[in-house]
Amino acid sequence: MGLLTIGSFAKASRLSPKALRLYDELGLLRPAHVDPVSGYRFYDPGQLERALLVAWLRRIGMPLARIRMVCELPAPAAAGEVSAYWSGVESATAARRDLAAFLIDYLSGKDAAMLDAHKTLGIRYAVRSDIGLHRELNEDSAYAGARLLAVADGLGGHAGGEVASAAAIEALRPLDAELPAGELLNALEHAVHQANDSLQQIVQTDPSLKGLGTTLTAMLWSGSQLALVHIGDSRAYLLRDGELFQITHDHTLVQTLVDEGRITLEEAASHPQRSLLLRAIDGKQSAPDLQLHDAKAGDRYLLCSDGLYTVVSADRLRQVLSTVADPDDVVRQLIDLANQGGGPDNITCVVADVVEL
Ligand code: MG
Repeated sequence: MGLLTIGSFAKASRLSPKALRLYDELGLLRPAHVDPVSGYRFYDPGQLERALLVAWLRRIGMPLARIRMVCELPAPAAAGEVSAYWSGVESATAARRDLAAFLIDYLSGKDAAMLDAHKTLGIRYAVRSDIGLHRELNEDSAYAGARLLAVADGLGGHAGGEVASAAAIEALRPLDAELPAGELLNALEHAVHQANDSLQQIVQTDPSLKGLGTTLTAMLWSGSQLALVHIGDSRAYLLRDGELFQITHDHTLVQTLVDEGRITLEEAASHPQRSLLLRAIDGKQSAPDLQLHDAKAGDRYLLCSDGLYTVVSADRLRQVLSTVADPDDVVRQLIDLANQGGGPDNITCVVADVVEL
Protein backbone atom coordinates (compact mmCIF):
# COMPACT_ATOMS: atom_id res chain seq x y z
CA MET A 1 0.00 0.00 0.00
CA GLY A 2 1.27 3.46 -0.84
CA LEU A 3 1.45 6.54 1.31
CA LEU A 4 -1.74 8.15 2.56
CA THR A 5 -2.60 11.81 2.28
CA ILE A 6 -3.06 13.63 5.55
CA GLY A 7 -6.83 13.59 4.95
CA SER A 8 -7.02 9.80 4.51
CA PHE A 9 -4.65 9.22 7.40
CA ALA A 10 -6.70 11.55 9.59
CA LYS A 11 -9.82 9.57 8.75
CA ALA A 12 -8.15 6.23 9.47
CA SER A 13 -6.59 7.40 12.75
CA ARG A 14 -9.58 9.52 13.82
CA LEU A 15 -7.24 12.39 14.49
CA SER A 16 -7.97 15.71 12.84
CA PRO A 17 -5.53 17.03 10.22
CA LYS A 18 -4.96 19.93 12.59
CA ALA A 19 -3.95 17.53 15.39
CA LEU A 20 -1.66 15.65 12.97
CA ARG A 21 0.08 18.89 12.03
CA LEU A 22 0.53 19.70 15.72
CA TYR A 23 1.95 16.24 16.47
CA ASP A 24 4.38 16.69 13.60
CA GLU A 25 5.55 20.02 14.99
CA LEU A 26 5.95 18.47 18.44
CA GLY A 27 7.86 15.50 17.08
CA LEU A 28 5.23 13.01 18.26
CA LEU A 29 4.37 11.70 14.83
CA ARG A 30 6.41 12.74 11.82
CA PRO A 31 4.89 12.20 8.37
CA ALA A 32 6.67 9.54 6.30
CA HIS A 33 7.13 12.06 3.53
CA VAL A 34 6.64 15.79 3.05
CA ASP A 35 6.34 17.04 -0.50
CA PRO A 36 9.17 19.55 -0.87
CA VAL A 37 7.17 21.73 -3.23
CA SER A 38 3.64 21.71 -1.89
CA GLY A 39 4.53 20.95 1.75
CA TYR A 40 1.79 18.28 1.83
CA ARG A 41 2.28 15.62 4.43
CA PHE A 42 2.00 11.91 3.61
CA TYR A 43 1.79 9.05 6.07
CA ASP A 44 2.67 5.38 5.91
CA PRO A 45 -0.17 3.00 6.88
CA GLY A 46 2.33 1.42 9.31
CA GLN A 47 2.22 4.66 11.33
CA LEU A 48 -1.41 4.06 12.19
CA GLU A 49 -0.59 2.18 15.38
CA ARG A 50 1.47 5.04 16.74
CA ALA A 51 -1.19 7.55 15.71
CA LEU A 52 -3.82 5.56 17.59
CA LEU A 53 -1.58 5.30 20.64
CA VAL A 54 -1.13 9.07 20.61
CA ALA A 55 -4.88 9.56 20.26
CA TRP A 56 -5.63 7.20 23.15
CA LEU A 57 -3.05 8.84 25.38
CA ARG A 58 -4.52 12.23 24.52
CA ARG A 59 -7.94 10.93 25.46
CA ILE A 60 -6.76 10.01 28.98
CA GLY A 61 -5.39 13.53 29.31
CA MET A 62 -1.66 12.76 29.23
CA PRO A 63 0.49 15.83 28.53
CA LEU A 64 2.23 15.88 25.15
CA ALA A 65 5.76 15.70 26.54
CA ARG A 66 4.89 12.55 28.45
CA ILE A 67 3.18 11.04 25.39
CA ARG A 68 6.38 11.55 23.45
CA MET A 69 8.27 9.61 26.12
CA VAL A 70 5.71 6.77 26.20
CA CYS A 71 5.81 6.44 22.41
CA GLU A 72 9.55 5.86 22.51
CA LEU A 73 9.34 3.07 25.10
CA PRO A 74 8.98 -0.66 24.44
CA ALA A 75 5.43 -1.85 25.19
CA PRO A 76 5.95 -3.21 28.75
CA ALA A 77 7.75 -0.06 29.88
CA ALA A 78 5.11 2.07 28.16
CA ALA A 79 2.42 0.15 30.06
CA GLY A 80 4.23 0.92 33.32
CA GLU A 81 4.45 4.57 32.43
CA VAL A 82 0.72 4.79 31.65
CA SER A 83 -0.02 3.06 34.93
CA ALA A 84 2.20 5.50 36.83
CA TYR A 85 0.57 8.44 35.08
CA TRP A 86 -2.87 7.15 35.98
CA SER A 87 -2.01 6.64 39.69
CA GLY A 88 -0.93 10.28 39.72
CA VAL A 89 -4.20 11.37 38.12
CA GLU A 90 -6.20 9.37 40.64
CA SER A 91 -4.41 10.81 43.64
CA ALA A 92 -4.79 14.35 42.27
CA THR A 93 -8.46 13.66 41.62
CA ALA A 94 -8.95 12.32 45.14
CA ALA A 95 -7.50 15.52 46.58
CA ARG A 96 -9.78 17.61 44.35
CA ARG A 97 -12.78 15.46 45.29
CA ASP A 98 -12.13 16.13 48.99
CA LEU A 99 -11.83 19.82 48.29
CA ALA A 100 -15.04 19.81 46.23
CA ALA A 101 -16.89 17.99 49.03
CA PHE A 102 -15.62 20.56 51.48
CA LEU A 103 -16.68 23.43 49.24
CA ILE A 104 -20.17 21.98 48.83
CA ASP A 105 -20.53 21.80 52.60
CA TYR A 106 -19.01 25.20 53.03
CA LEU A 107 -21.23 26.90 50.46
CA SER A 108 -24.30 25.09 51.75
CA GLY A 109 -23.78 26.87 55.06
CA LYS A 110 -22.96 23.62 56.81
CA ASP A 111 -19.52 24.90 57.69
CA ALA A 112 -20.80 27.82 59.74
CA ALA A 113 -23.15 25.50 61.61
CA MET A 114 -20.39 22.98 62.20
CA LEU A 115 -18.03 25.64 63.48
CA ASP A 116 -20.56 26.49 66.16
CA ALA A 117 -21.43 22.89 66.91
CA HIS A 118 -17.80 21.89 67.27
CA LYS A 119 -16.39 24.88 69.02
CA THR A 120 -15.61 22.60 71.90
CA LEU A 121 -13.35 20.27 69.85
CA GLY A 122 -9.68 20.51 70.58
CA ILE A 123 -6.57 18.35 70.51
CA ARG A 124 -4.33 16.88 73.16
CA TYR A 125 -0.94 16.20 71.71
CA ALA A 126 2.59 15.03 72.35
CA VAL A 127 5.74 15.11 70.24
CA ARG A 128 9.07 13.35 70.56
CA SER A 129 12.08 12.92 68.34
CA ASP A 130 14.99 10.56 68.87
CA ILE A 131 18.29 10.14 67.07
CA GLY A 132 17.98 6.33 67.04
CA LEU A 133 20.93 4.02 67.52
CA HIS A 134 22.93 4.34 64.31
CA ARG A 135 22.87 7.94 63.10
CA GLU A 136 25.27 10.67 64.06
CA LEU A 137 22.71 13.43 63.63
CA ASN A 138 19.00 13.79 64.07
CA GLU A 139 17.83 15.18 60.73
CA ASP A 140 14.14 14.96 61.64
CA SER A 141 12.26 18.02 62.83
CA ALA A 142 8.81 18.21 64.35
CA TYR A 143 6.25 20.61 65.71
CA ALA A 144 3.12 20.18 67.78
CA GLY A 145 0.80 22.99 68.84
CA ALA A 146 -2.89 23.54 69.46
CA ARG A 147 -3.68 23.81 65.74
CA LEU A 148 -0.65 22.53 63.90
CA LEU A 149 1.21 19.23 63.93
CA ALA A 150 4.14 18.49 61.65
CA VAL A 151 6.90 16.00 61.01
CA ALA A 152 9.75 16.57 58.54
CA ASP A 153 12.56 14.14 57.73
CA GLY A 154 15.57 15.85 56.21
CA LEU A 155 17.73 14.35 53.49
CA GLY A 156 21.08 15.24 52.11
CA GLY A 157 23.66 14.46 54.77
CA HIS A 158 26.44 16.86 55.84
CA ALA A 159 23.94 18.71 58.06
CA GLY A 160 21.86 19.53 54.96
CA GLY A 161 19.04 17.29 56.12
CA GLU A 162 18.81 18.99 59.49
CA VAL A 163 18.71 22.41 57.86
CA ALA A 164 16.06 21.34 55.35
CA SER A 165 13.67 19.75 57.82
CA ALA A 166 14.03 22.71 60.19
CA ALA A 167 13.31 25.14 57.34
CA ALA A 168 10.10 23.27 56.44
CA ILE A 169 8.89 23.42 60.04
CA GLU A 170 9.80 27.13 60.25
CA ALA A 171 7.69 27.86 57.17
CA LEU A 172 4.69 26.17 58.77
CA ARG A 173 5.02 27.52 62.29
CA PRO A 174 3.11 30.80 61.70
CA LEU A 175 0.04 28.71 60.77
CA ASP A 176 -0.45 27.60 64.37
CA ALA A 177 -3.14 30.25 64.82
CA GLU A 178 -6.85 30.68 64.29
CA LEU A 179 -7.60 30.31 60.57
CA PRO A 180 -10.97 30.09 58.81
CA ALA A 181 -11.68 26.53 57.65
CA GLY A 182 -11.86 27.72 54.04
CA GLU A 183 -8.24 28.85 54.13
CA LEU A 184 -6.58 25.77 55.57
CA LEU A 185 -5.52 24.14 52.33
CA ASN A 186 -4.32 27.35 50.72
CA ALA A 187 -2.34 28.21 53.82
CA LEU A 188 -0.65 24.81 53.87
CA GLU A 189 0.13 24.86 50.19
CA HIS A 190 1.53 28.37 50.49
CA ALA A 191 3.74 27.31 53.40
CA VAL A 192 5.13 24.41 51.36
CA HIS A 193 6.03 26.80 48.54
CA GLN A 194 7.72 29.08 51.07
CA ALA A 195 9.67 26.15 52.47
CA ASN A 196 10.71 25.25 48.94
CA ASP A 197 11.86 28.83 48.27
CA SER A 198 13.84 28.95 51.47
CA LEU A 199 15.64 25.68 50.58
CA GLN A 200 16.49 27.18 47.22
CA GLN A 201 18.00 30.21 48.95
CA ILE A 202 19.91 28.06 51.41
CA VAL A 203 21.58 26.17 48.55
CA GLN A 204 22.35 29.39 46.69
CA THR A 205 24.05 30.75 49.80
CA ASP A 206 25.92 27.55 50.55
CA PRO A 207 26.38 25.35 47.45
CA SER A 208 27.93 22.59 49.59
CA LEU A 209 24.37 21.85 50.75
CA LYS A 210 23.23 21.03 47.22
CA GLY A 211 21.01 17.94 47.25
CA LEU A 212 19.33 18.75 50.52
CA GLY A 213 15.63 18.16 50.86
CA THR A 214 12.95 17.15 53.28
CA THR A 215 9.73 15.25 53.61
CA LEU A 216 6.81 16.99 55.24
CA THR A 217 3.61 15.62 56.72
CA ALA A 218 1.54 18.17 58.59
CA MET A 219 -1.98 18.79 59.84
CA LEU A 220 -3.80 22.00 60.51
CA TRP A 221 -7.09 22.35 62.39
CA SER A 222 -9.96 24.78 62.26
CA GLY A 223 -13.32 24.09 63.87
CA SER A 224 -14.09 20.52 62.92
CA GLN A 225 -12.05 20.60 59.71
CA LEU A 226 -8.61 19.23 59.46
CA ALA A 227 -6.31 19.79 56.51
CA LEU A 228 -3.38 17.55 55.74
CA VAL A 229 -0.36 18.32 53.59
CA HIS A 230 2.02 15.56 52.63
CA ILE A 231 5.11 15.11 50.53
CA GLY A 232 7.67 12.32 50.81
CA ASP A 233 7.64 9.21 52.96
CA SER A 234 6.78 10.40 56.44
CA ARG A 235 3.26 9.22 57.28
CA ALA A 236 -0.01 10.12 58.93
CA TYR A 237 -2.24 7.46 60.47
CA LEU A 238 -5.73 7.73 61.90
CA LEU A 239 -6.96 5.48 64.69
CA ARG A 240 -10.76 5.48 64.60
CA ASP A 241 -13.00 2.99 66.37
CA GLY A 242 -10.03 0.74 67.11
CA GLU A 243 -8.90 0.55 63.47
CA LEU A 244 -5.71 2.06 62.13
CA PHE A 245 -5.72 3.72 58.71
CA GLN A 246 -2.68 5.06 56.92
CA ILE A 247 -4.05 8.28 55.42
CA THR A 248 -1.00 9.38 53.44
CA HIS A 249 0.55 7.75 50.41
CA ASP A 250 4.35 7.35 50.36
CA HIS A 251 6.00 9.18 47.48
CA THR A 252 8.59 6.47 47.03
CA LEU A 253 9.74 4.33 44.15
CA VAL A 254 8.73 1.15 45.99
CA GLN A 255 5.21 2.43 46.71
CA THR A 256 4.79 3.16 42.99
CA LEU A 257 5.99 -0.36 42.16
CA VAL A 258 3.49 -1.76 44.68
CA ASP A 259 0.68 0.40 43.24
CA GLU A 260 1.48 -0.88 39.78
CA GLY A 261 1.39 -4.47 41.03
CA ARG A 262 5.04 -5.06 40.15
CA ILE A 263 6.21 -5.96 43.65
CA THR A 264 4.44 -6.99 46.86
CA LEU A 265 4.48 -5.06 50.14
CA GLU A 266 6.85 -7.68 51.56
CA GLU A 267 9.24 -7.23 48.65
CA ALA A 268 9.04 -3.45 49.09
CA ALA A 269 10.22 -3.76 52.69
CA SER A 270 13.52 -5.32 51.60
CA HIS A 271 13.89 -3.59 48.22
CA PRO A 272 17.40 -2.12 47.77
CA GLN A 273 15.92 1.23 46.71
CA ARG A 274 13.20 1.32 49.37
CA SER A 275 14.26 4.74 50.63
CA LEU A 276 14.31 6.39 47.20
CA LEU A 277 11.88 9.32 47.25
CA LEU A 278 10.01 10.41 44.16
CA ARG A 279 8.87 13.65 45.75
CA ALA A 280 10.27 15.88 48.48
CA ILE A 281 10.63 19.56 49.21
CA ASP A 282 14.01 20.11 47.63
CA GLY A 283 14.14 23.71 46.47
CA LYS A 284 13.25 22.75 42.91
CA GLN A 285 9.71 21.50 42.67
CA SER A 286 7.31 20.61 45.41
CA ALA A 287 3.97 19.04 44.61
CA PRO A 288 2.36 18.11 47.91
CA ASP A 289 -0.78 16.02 48.39
CA LEU A 290 -3.51 17.99 50.13
CA GLN A 291 -6.55 16.51 51.85
CA LEU A 292 -9.39 17.66 54.05
CA HIS A 293 -10.97 15.55 56.77
CA ASP A 294 -13.74 15.97 59.32
CA ALA A 295 -12.31 15.75 62.80
CA LYS A 296 -14.27 13.61 65.25
CA ALA A 297 -13.97 13.47 69.01
CA GLY A 298 -12.26 10.20 69.89
CA ASP A 299 -10.03 10.14 66.81
CA ARG A 300 -6.31 9.75 67.37
CA TYR A 301 -3.73 10.82 64.81
CA LEU A 302 -0.13 9.72 64.51
CA LEU A 303 2.41 11.53 62.34
CA CYS A 304 5.78 9.85 62.10
CA SER A 305 9.01 9.65 60.15
CA ASP A 306 10.03 6.41 58.41
CA GLY A 307 12.36 5.60 61.32
CA LEU A 308 9.24 4.43 63.15
CA TYR A 309 7.16 2.50 60.65
CA THR A 310 10.01 0.69 58.91
CA VAL A 311 10.85 -0.92 62.25
CA VAL A 312 7.52 -1.12 64.08
CA SER A 313 4.76 -3.04 62.29
CA ALA A 314 1.33 -1.54 61.63
CA ASP A 315 -0.16 -4.12 63.99
CA ARG A 316 2.13 -3.07 66.79
CA LEU A 317 1.41 0.62 66.09
CA ARG A 318 -2.31 -0.06 66.32
CA GLN A 319 -1.87 -1.98 69.54
CA VAL A 320 0.03 0.81 71.28
CA LEU A 321 -2.19 3.57 69.88
CA SER A 322 -5.37 1.80 70.96
CA THR A 323 -4.28 0.77 74.45
CA VAL A 324 -2.10 3.59 75.82
CA ALA A 325 -4.19 6.55 76.94
CA ASP A 326 -1.77 9.44 77.38
CA PRO A 327 -0.21 10.85 74.14
CA ASP A 328 3.07 11.46 75.99
CA ASP A 329 3.26 7.80 76.97
CA VAL A 330 2.38 6.77 73.42
CA VAL A 331 5.21 8.69 71.75
CA ARG A 332 7.68 7.45 74.36
CA GLN A 333 6.64 3.82 73.90
CA LEU A 334 6.70 4.03 70.11
CA ILE A 335 10.23 5.41 70.12
CA ASP A 336 11.31 2.72 72.57
CA LEU A 337 9.89 0.07 70.24
CA ALA A 338 11.77 1.51 67.26
CA ASN A 339 15.02 1.51 69.22
CA GLN A 340 14.40 -2.02 70.47
CA GLY A 341 13.97 -2.94 66.82
CA GLY A 342 17.48 -1.65 66.08
CA GLY A 343 16.85 2.09 65.73
CA PRO A 344 18.48 2.29 62.29
CA ASP A 345 17.17 5.79 61.57
CA ASN A 346 15.99 8.91 63.39
CA ILE A 347 12.55 8.42 64.88
CA THR A 348 9.95 11.15 65.23
CA CYS A 349 6.36 10.81 66.40
CA VAL A 350 3.52 13.23 66.97
CA VAL A 351 0.32 11.92 68.52
CA ALA A 352 -2.85 13.99 68.77
CA ASP A 353 -6.21 13.10 70.30
CA VAL A 354 -9.32 14.94 69.15
CA VAL A 355 -11.20 15.74 72.34
CA GLU A 356 -14.28 17.63 73.44
CA LEU A 357 -13.09 20.40 75.68
MG1 MG B 1 14.10 8.87 58.07
